[in-house]
Amino acid sequence: MTPPLHITPLKSWLPFESRPLVVSGPCSAESEKQLRETALALVKIPQVKVFRAGIWKPRTRPSAFEGVGSKGLKWMQKVKQDTGLLLTVEVASQRHVQEALEHDIDILWIGARTVVNPFSIQEIGEALQGCDIPLMIKNPLNPDVHTWTGAIERFNQLGIHKLVAVHRGFSFFNRSPYRNAPMWEIPIELMCSYPKMPMLCDPSHICGNRDLILPTSQKAMDLEMTGLMIETHYAPEEALTDKRQQITPEHLGKILKSLVIRQERGSTTFRNKLESLRTEIDKLDEELIDILARRMSVVEEIGQYKKENRITILQLKRWNKVIRDRVENGIRLGLNRDFILRLLEAIHDETIQKQMDVMNRRD
Ligand code: PEP
Ligand code: MN
Repeated sequence: MTPPLHITPLKSWLPFESRPLVVSGPCSAESEKQLRETALALVKIPQVKVFRAGIWKPRTRPSAFEGVGSKGLKWMQKVKQDTGLLLTVEVASQRHVQEALEHDIDILWIGARTVVNPFSIQEIGEALQGCDIPLMIKNPLNPDVHTWTGAIERFNQLGIHKLVAVHRGFSFFNRSPYRNAPMWEIPIELMCSYPKMPMLCDPSHICGNRDLILPTSQKAMDLEMTGLMIETHYAPEEALTDKRQQITPEHLGKILKSLVIRQERGSTTFRNKLESLRTEIDKLDEELIDILARRMSVVEEIGQYKKENRITILQLKRWNKVIRDRVENGIRLGLNRDFILRLLEAIHDETIQKQMDVMNRRD
């Protein structure tokens, strides 16, 4: 069971008209000019409400550019004066929190490398107590929903109620077109556990290259995520970090224009039709479970019969034939081969377990 969260509704502290709410700006603050040029172009895009920039950059190797540090916060303040955009930066320590607060940063975010460490979360959370600043929490590098929800719960218990989750994909070892695998099922699980928790998607870090940003953003919108965090740079080719995934503000404008934002609820006719289809699904699921229960009781009967006749549980030849027949039949009815196989395997595992129980039972 997940404990309830106390979340202050997003729109009460960050008004926006319609999805997506957009957080944008460069991966790293590099110069005053870069921040100003990028922000002046971004402020023309109505969906962009928050300007982001990394001040302290967590890098894999110490020789890489590690951010401009505190002087970047002064440039950020200037952006706020010039554009009115709200500001957000990543914080990973109490010192970062302190400096960010001293420089009028409006929202803080916790990066994927920090969120895995409960000591850091506790420390940052304690530094934030009593200041009512909103916090965005990225998913951890590893594909584990509990680490993510654990950090969210920890902050919440420390009294931080203006919270937003950010899906930025997960490290994994297989080859893929993505820099970080989206594994959509993980943010979906978080959204189901905490329906009041707003979820942004960060397609920049998921994709690692600018070409995939549009389809990934579209998918996030179709999953009813609230908004997007997208890295922009007035001259992406000159960026000191994450060059391949940064886009110009103009490119961001085009992406946002081509997104299709589907309604969450739809018209009355739509809802009625959906309701009737859902009723049909409920009925089918009920039948499905009833059939499975009936199948298992026949399985038990067979188990008992095998036991009385001293026959082994696993009859490989018979099982292979069952698989062949069922897969063939399923494919004929338009079902996916892998899906039938996975389903049969689950049924078979349970069948074997049931018959073992019968064998071990003292009659
Ligand atoms: C970033 O947003 O620039 C960043 C470092 O992100 P993440 O923590 O998701 O890697
Ligand atoms: Mn980045």
